[in-house]
Amino acid sequence: MIFELVILGNSSATPTISRHPSAQYLRMLDHHFLIDCGEGTQMQMQRYKIKKSRLKHIFISHIHADHMLGLPGLLFSMNLMQRTDPLHIYGPAVLFDILDLFIASTDNPIHFEIIKHVTNSDKREVIFEDTTIKVTSFPLYHRVPTTGFLFEEQTNLKKLNVDNCKRHNIPFTHYTDIKRGKDYVSADGKTVIKNRELTIENPNPLSYAYCSDTVYDDRVIEQIKGVDMLYHEATFKHDKLERALQTMHTTALQAGMVAKLAEAKQLIIGHFSSRYDNLMELPEETQQEFPNSFLAYEGERFIRE
Ligand SMILES: [Zn+2]
Ligand SMILES: [Zn+2]
Repeated sequence: MIFELVILGNSSATPTISRHPSAQYLRMLDHHFLIDCGEGTQMQMQRYKIKKSRLKHIFISHIHADHMLGLPGLLFSMNLMQRTDPLHIYGPAVLFDILDLFIASTDNPIHFEIIKHVTNSDKREVIFEDTTIKVTSFPLYHRVPTTGFLFEEQTNLKKLNVDNCKRHNIPFTHYTDIKRGKDYVSADGKTVIKNRELTIENPNPLSYAYCSDTVYDDRVIEQIKGVDMLYHEATFKHDKLERALQTMHTTALQAGMVAKLAEAKQLIIGHFSSRYDNLMELPEETQQEFPNSFLAYEGERFIRE
């Protein structure tokens, strides 16, 4: 498995008895990312068996409470667990002002390093890059400075020939090296399988875009053109368009239009208003514009090999 997205929360501002605010765990190759961190995120991580210790990068789209209230609690839990690894946090400048004040005001200093990356909601920027993955932030259009995030496999990576990897019983832990072009060598050195046996060329590297929260705006479409998997907020149904415009959110129908115009391959919608008990009404509306649309159920895992 090289791509795994787990929905930890799908509710907008008000949590409900069965739904939590925005948070997603994303694994791409060797990276374990957390995207947004609404209230209750660390309990959701426990529920879905995601280890806090694995996280090295946390991306916060904006400062609204339903996207960041869980972060101080998560940091203090990491501290209690004796974390020593540095943690990279990406978000608007004011996020770090709040965290600094909060941490300085308690008698529990954080013992691991927090590396702050201030995002810019005015322009597109590459905010993280290594040999396997690139992460780009881009402007969204909301009531406070907000960015979306685009996660892309680097173009130099090959695509796994999954059938051949399974046939040769290649352990998952070797997948990233194989995608980088290395041959497989077993631990005892007795088995060597050439890279060309285990890979195929990869003309379309995998990509995932996260768009929450934003009013419908054509400029977002340019930022995510051709993305494989798109997560987009769909706070209201289209009969509440006026409310969506007032609060700078998107309707389910508009989310489908974004996916269609961006030529995305798959759409996942979330960030639903607590007014909706039957969430299936929302993807039904989205599918009028973009049939390959799915609901972000909490606990749902979207996987690609
Ligand atoms: Zn929100
Ligand atoms: Zn918001």
